[in-house]
Amino acid sequence: DARVWLQYTITRYGDGERLMVVRDVTRVHNLEQMRKDFVANVSHELRTPLTVVVGYLETLADNADEINPRWKRALMQMQQQARRMQSLLNDLLLLARLETSDTAAETKPIAVERMLLTIRQDAQALSGEHNHRITLEALSDRRLLGVEGELRSAFSNLVFNAVKYTPDGGDIHVRWWVDDNGAHMSVRDNGVGIAPQHISRLTERFYRVDSSRNSNTGGTGLGLAIVKHVLIRHDGELKINSVVGQGSSFTCHFPLKRLV
Ligand code: ADP
Repeated sequence: DARVWLQYTITRYGDGERLMVVRDVTRVHNLEQMRKDFVANVSHELRTPLTVVVGYLETLADNADEINPRWKRALMQMQQQARRMQSLLNDLLLLARLETSDTAAETKPIAVERMLLTIRQDAQALSGEHNHRITLEALSDRRLLGVEGELRSAFSNLVFNAVKYTPDGGDIHVRWWVDDNGAHMSVRDNGVGIAPQHISRLTERFYRVDSSRNSNTGGTGLGLAIVKHVLIRHDGELKINSVVGQGSSFTCHFPLKRLV
């Protein structure tokens, strides 16, 4: 790639004079590209051996009755951690693809209500005995122009997070509506909430509010980074509101031009 990347800033002074600084950021840009390629390649290469490990662990688990209880516990742990690695690699690959590939080819009108119905069902299954009350209010049947798989990942991440970070029996409300400002999808919960100093950093890769608290929720720390990138690709924006101990709301805003 022989392109040159320039970045410029213009400063205006009171008497009408201006100062323009042009910086050659080609090196920074190329390094960033190398980082993305590297992460994508490593994730891809690690996936195959891990699939083999998970496969053999499953075979062993099928015959677990024949081994002693201590080994059985170890086996369960290995299985759990290997699956965790798998979802981490999948998320890393998805992020890499979101950062580099073009969307135009895969864009089509999406029936958001139908998508949210299935996500609600999956979230209810994830909640299981934790008995969250998950409600869906779809107020528009307009379709959203987008990439189905990407929007599904983004919306499920938000709804699943609400389940993960809301104590048993909590309320989760999913809403989809259209007004003069655009289309909106929000997820509101009455869970643990997030302190203000964390909010602006939540969409960074691997950023987690409290890693000890989160270690047993099975998350990868990449969910909200994925949401952010999906929204950027759909001309959208994520707004987060939260109060510690009261709950959080995550809202995706899309411009009207994305509706059909
Ligand atoms: P994770 O895999 O840890 O869930 P995410 O990127 O999805 O990663 O979220 C980043 C962090 O944001 C989480 O670790 C959690 O601390 C916080 N968070 C996300 N959603 C919620 C929510 N609904 N309520 C409270 N905290 C949340």
